[in-house]
Amino acid sequence: MPLVTRERDVSKTTDLVVVGGGIAGLTVALAASERGLSVVVIDEPRPGAASRAAAGMLAPSVEGLPASVRPLALEAREYFPRFLAELSAKANADVAVALNRDGILEVASTDDDLARLHGRTNDDAERLDSRALAELEPALGSHAGALLHPTDGAVDNVTLMTTLDLAVARDRLIRRIQGSVDSIELTGGRYVAWTGEGTRHEGKFLVLATGAWATGIPGLPRTLPVRPLRGQLLRLDQLPVTHVAYVAGGYLVPRGTTLLVGATSEEAGFKNAVTGEGQTELMGIAQRAVPELASARVVEHWAGLRPVTPDALPILGRDADFPGLIYSCGFSRNGILLAPWAAAKLAALLTGGAVDLTPFAASRFAPNQGSQQ
Ligand SMILES: Cc1cc2nc3c(=O)[nH]c(=O)nc-3n(C[C@H](O)[C@H](O)[C@H](O)COP(=O)(O)OP(=O)(O)OC[C@H]3O[C@@H](n4cnc5c(N)ncnc54)[C@H](O)[C@@H]3O)c2cc1C
Repeated sequence: MPLVTRERDVSKTTDLVVVGGGIAGLTVALAASERGLSVVVIDEPRPGAASRAAAGMLAPSVEGLPASVRPLALEAREYFPRFLAELSAKANADVAVALNRDGILEVASTDDDLARLHGRTNDDAERLDSRALAELEPALGSHAGALLHPTDGAVDNVTLMTTLDLAVARDRLIRRIQGSVDSIELTGGRYVAWTGEGTRHEGKFLVLATGAWATGIPGLPRTLPVRPLRGQLLRLDQLPVTHVAYVAGGYLVPRGTTLLVGATSEEAGFKNAVTGEGQTELMGIAQRAVPELASARVVEHWAGLRPVTPDALPILGRDADFPGLIYSCGFSRNGILLAPWAAAKLAALLTGGAVDLTPFAASRFAPNQGSQQ
């Protein structure tokens, strides 16, 4: 079965047009179809698309989210097991999406850092001194101690994206089109996406899920302050730890029999290249975390573009002036964690549910506000 339909094969009206086929677009398409809406997903794969490039951490306890949003991020984390079970049934996939709920370690390298870290916690995190840390993760035994956030974790986002592709392809209410949306038309209560081939796709609703490219489409009623922030990651051929660990200014994420080391944060516009400096920075993190990793071999080195907003929170919900235009973009550093949860909320909104997404409203930004984060 082809995963993507040619443009000319599809009818031009639908309940919902989704622009963008990353985790935000595909999860909202599936959630809307589950509620009986017909959906067209229009996506042009672009270098730097974030969802496959990410490290897949589910880290609401570590990411420094504001207190108003933290409970929602915890809800998003707790939603993951059910989301994956339902997705795997829809996709009928041979390979399960790996979900690690062993907890995330926040590691301190000096006693001062440890005192700060242990003084900060007010949740269910466990304080580990250096001996307890060494018992849990011998390879991190030279560090001063850690906090263990016991129910954070990570998902294999690459398998997740492949499973989303399969589920969307099997869904009779969703049609997926490869094409670039060049403009949006919002006149007379119509929500229309025009592709580069001059094809018109009209929906009762239109969801904008274009990742780092959220600002660039003519016809949008406001400038969304989303910009690309490049991140490079390495995959090493050694696996000295079993927990996800924030350590030495970066993070380590076990993935199968290998280890992901991340990540750089670079202002490079839409240039999605890997660099020698990036590799050096990441190997430095790896070796400061676990000195034995000096002998590890780099299996893979890649980059992706985080779609960041000034407050690092996504933009979700209806446009204030055009209620059929729905935003699902600007997921910043936490889109793997938040997008499936956000999709369920947005699908409820589209079918008349009362959903409060106030902290994520596009109107929280002043018109034409730039992104600082
Ligand atoms: C290095 C790195 C590490 C990360 N680690 C984590 C992590 O550990 N945990 C976490 O939760 N998040 C993480 N993230 C963030 C997360 O990856 C993103 O927030 C999330 O993937 C954004 O998903 P998206 O669907 O909005 O965007 P994307 O995945 O970028 O998808 C957008 C899609 O829209 C398409 N598109 C854009 N414009 C158009 C157009 N005009 N017409 C048609 N198609 C268009 C693009 O080609 C792309 O396919 C990380 C990101 C990076 C780069």
